[in-house]
Amino acid sequence: MVKSVAAPQAKGKSAEDKIFGANNRAVALAETLGADKVINGTVGSILDEDGNLVMLHVVEEAFKALTPKEIVAYAPIQGYPDYLDAVIDQCFGESRPEGYIRACATSGGSGVLHHVIHNYSEWGDDILTSDWHWGAYGSMCNDNGRHLREFELIGSDGKFNFASFKEHVEDMVAKQYNTVIIMNSPANNPTGFALSSDDWDTVLAFLKDVVAGKDKNIILVPDVAYLDYSGEKKECRKFFKKFGNLPDNILVVVAYTCSKGFTMYGQRMGAMICVTANEDIANEFVAINQYTSRATWSNSNSAAMKAMANICKDPAKVAELDAERAKYFALIKERADIFMKEAQECGLKYLPYLSGFFITIPMEGSQAVCDLLEKENIFLVPLGKGVRLAVCSVSKAKITGLAAKIKSAVEAT
Ligand code: PLP
Repeated sequence: MVKSVAAPQAKGKSAEDKIFGANNRAVALAETLGADKVINGTVGSILDEDGNLVMLHVVEEAFKALTPKEIVAYAPIQGYPDYLDAVIDQCFGESRPEGYIRACATSGGSGVLHHVIHNYSEWGDDILTSDWHWGAYGSMCNDNGRHLREFELIGSDGKFNFASFKEHVEDMVAKQYNTVIIMNSPANNPTGFALSSDDWDTVLAFLKDVVAGKDKNIILVPDVAYLDYSGEKKECRKFFKKFGNLPDNILVVVAYTCSKGFTMYGQRMGAMICVTANEDIANEFVAINQYTSRATWSNSNSAAMKAMANICKDPAKVAELDAERAKYFALIKERADIFMKEAQECGLKYLPYLSGFFITIPMEGSQAVCDLLEKENIFLVPLGKGVRLAVCSVSKAKITGLAAKIKSAVEAT
């Protein structure tokens, strides 16, 4: 038996991550064979057409311009005020909802999710998300003694499955004081799916109804990690307006991150942003989440906050940022369009993709298909019910022909 001294609740945990595992193998193979011989569709970061990690130019310049003090100082636990203002502005743009809006700096979008789970659900509670979701949600729940519960995101008609969502929420509200719902839209990881404006209306009307007159709360967490590559800047933010004027027992906490929109992945910088019609709830939001930051990682990364805030103070830099993002949004779309066109031509089914870093090919036996593809130097991520392709990181040249190769691998297994 393997010796262990871990506390009972920590025994058996393992950080082995299928995504990083496949990526490591792809990188190692590219070093021996040459990068042009390997297709690495595992990475959730934007790579350019030559396979280099993209750092937005305006962000690079902002980091270079930082003063030593901006880099090394301890920042306030809640975050620098100019960063918090910038985050709210960057997130909502022209679609700032009505109500009390407060932000707290976090360690990326992951930090938001950690704090929401930790502070707004109880030990043993279920947390709701869609069946197609980022794998880390499950670990975050388990590590906090919670359980991740899944509704079916996409119905057989290819649309948002409201019936499944409703069924789960009703059951959770009946059983729990708080119902935390993580909704990764737009640009869902791993599908690229998004709720439409009408879907959001239906969801919010139902949520109001399900807790009306009850001493029960809904904590709705729109995870907008890929927002900046999900469409035209104003258009893709319109749904935020709907979060204004909700009843007090519905708290919206937006999971915002600089990881993708500012290509600051490793800088670990994000923010949780609350929207509520009640000032007490907004004050409590800052108090409890600041406390949890102090009790986990303490203050956030000063350099990253200052680089972001300094860009946002300068309209010319914001214009440059928007132009760069639009360029990469268009590039990702071109890659996705190539893949989807070829998939249709060869009869390979994929889930409804609207925008974002990933496309998913639904299937059973995804591990065997990925194993087979690895023999052809193609690295993708096996999920429980499909295979994930990172269109953010595979060049147009390498995406061309990929659908047919995946189709052959599916048929051969
Ligand atoms: N949410 C989703 C769906 C993601 O895919 C990611 C990153 O991959 C995040 C949130 C947040 O990531 P980070 O903690 O790096 O900001």
